[in-house]
Order: sequence, then C-alpha cells, then structure tokens
Amino acid sequence: MVNNLIFWGVRGSFPIASPDLIKYGGNTSCISLQIDEDTIIVFDAGSGLKNLGDTMARQYKNKLPEIHILISHFMWDHIMGIPFFRPLYKNRGRINIYSAYREDHFSLKEIFAVQHSRDYFHVDFIELPAVLNFYSIKAYHPFRIKNAIITPVVLNHADITYGYIVDFKGQRIAYVCDTAPFHTQFLGTLPNPKFNEMKYLNYIREKLFDELFRADIVYFDAHFTYDEYKDKHHWGHATPDYALKVCQECEVYNLFLGHHAPEHNDEKMDEIVKITQEKNQDQYLKVFGAREKMTVKISSSEEKQQDNMKQQVNG
Ligand SMILES: [Zn+2]
Ligand SMILES: [Zn+2]
Repeated sequence: MVNNLIFWGVRGSFPIASPDLIKYGGNTSCISLQIDEDTIIVFDAGSGLKNLGDTMARQYKNKLPEIHILISHFMWDHIMGIPFFRPLYKNRGRINIYSAYREDHFSLKEIFAVQHSRDYFHVDFIELPAVLNFYSIKAYHPFRIKNAIITPVVLNHADITYGYIVDFKGQRIAYVCDTAPFHTQFLGTLPNPKFNEMKYLNYIREKLFDELFRADIVYFDAHFTYDEYKDKHHWGHATPDYALKVCQECEVYNLFLGHHAPEHNDEKMDEIVKITQEKNQDQYLKVFGAREKMTVKISSSEEKQQDNMKQQVNG
C-alpha cells in the first residue's frame, strides 16, 4: 500500500449495497495514502474505513503503521467507520485524529467519545486499547506528517468542513470531499458572526483555488447532477460540471469525481463520467469517476521519468 492513494469509500450520504452499485461501490468517504512503511494518512472515516482496517490487520500482523486520520466534518457518512476500525482494538495501535477546532462546542475527543459510548456501541471509548490522540487544527495553517505537508482549507458545507491539500513527493493531492459551489450562499458557520457572508465565501473560494493550482490529483465533490442540484443547491454539494470547471480553471492534471449520490447506480455513474469527460476541453486534464478499491500510485517526478525509461527499455 506504500505510496498508493487507495479509495475505500467514494459514496456520499449513507452506505448502500445493491447488485447495480458494484462497480463504483457503496461505502462512504474514506481514502488512504500510505507515505512510508510506518505511516498512513487517511482522509475521513466513513464506512470504507472498515475495509481499510481489515486490510491493515491482515498485512501488519505485529506492528501497525501509525495512523493519521484527517476528518473533513462530523456528518455520519464521514465518521461511521470509526467503531469498526480494527486498529482501535490493538494494544499497540497509534491513531491520531485531526479536525477543525470549535471553541464553543464539544472538543474533538468528546465528539468521538460520545459516538463510541455504550449508548451506541458495545465497547466504550475508555476501554479502547489503542493510543488515541486528537489534534485541533486550523484552516490555512499547514502541518507536517513525516515528509508530507498538509494544508486544511475551508469548504462550503455545513458547520465547519475542511478539505485537505497534501504535498508529498513533489506531488500535490487535494481531498475536496463535501462542498457546494462558491458563488451563491455560504452554508457553514462564519468564524465571526460579524463577517459578511459573500465576502467570506469569496475569500474561501480564492484560498481553495490557490491551493488547487496545478495540483496533480484532485478528488472533488460531484454528488448531484445539474438537474438535481437546482432543487438542492443548499444541501452543500457540487456537480461534476462544477468540479470540472474548477479543475480547468486551476489547471489541475487529474480530477477524480467523488462523493457519489447513493441514488446513482453504475449505469448512471458511467453516464455522468462519460459526459464530464466529453465536456473536458483541457488537453492536460484527465477526468475519472472514483471507484471503490481504485489505486493511484504516487510517484515523484524522478520516479516517473525512471518508470518511463524502464518501459522504453522493456518495450
Ligand atoms: Zn458527505
Ligand atoms: Zn457532509
């Protein structure tokens, strides 16, 4: 799994299983990026986290890598995998959870302790054998995990929702999971109630677009088709067209459409992806529909050159 970006859950809102959803998968938000043998970064802890934990338990019988989970926000589809994450039940598990800081609300630890209380689950939070650390992070304040630099950015979604930009091996990877477009209304909580809503929306848009400029890989909210979006513009999600527009404007290289609506079966998803690919006018941008278990190798520019040379020699 080292240096691979792996999609464990790309569905939005709630997990779903059906024979006509097998290609794109039914688990909710979870993507992993293992940066070395000892360190794994995880974007969100939706139901896809269960399969990641099971895979890790199989691969690392003795010593698990240290796990760093970056939470976008606390809606169920982004945290429901936590109680079923096997490394929590390992004595030597080390799990670090990062998310937004809310001075006027529950602390991060309290949010997860409540989710893991006996009212909701059969093992209480205080009984968990793994070591759990919680880090409250702030938007636009980069922090480091080994040789990866992570920058949280504010998205246009409920309460406080962060996207994450990761610079690793000279590659820029962006996780923009839940966001509405940035042109009509701000759907979150203003950092200061006196702020002007439209000015703040413009500010977070510019900050995000700066970070996405020439990013190598962008996973972007494409939950609604345009027709669905017209009635649900206040639900906090974007469209494939909007994801494409942003990535064209920001000169991104690879766009992965994600957070698929549970109502979109494989046939519908194939259609959405095909239409978006056909609309793409940018010769440098590739568009993909994110699918569960899809793996993207992250290579530095030098490694890519070496791979090309090997292919030429082998070819
Ligand atoms: Zn979501
Ligand atoms: Zn959400």
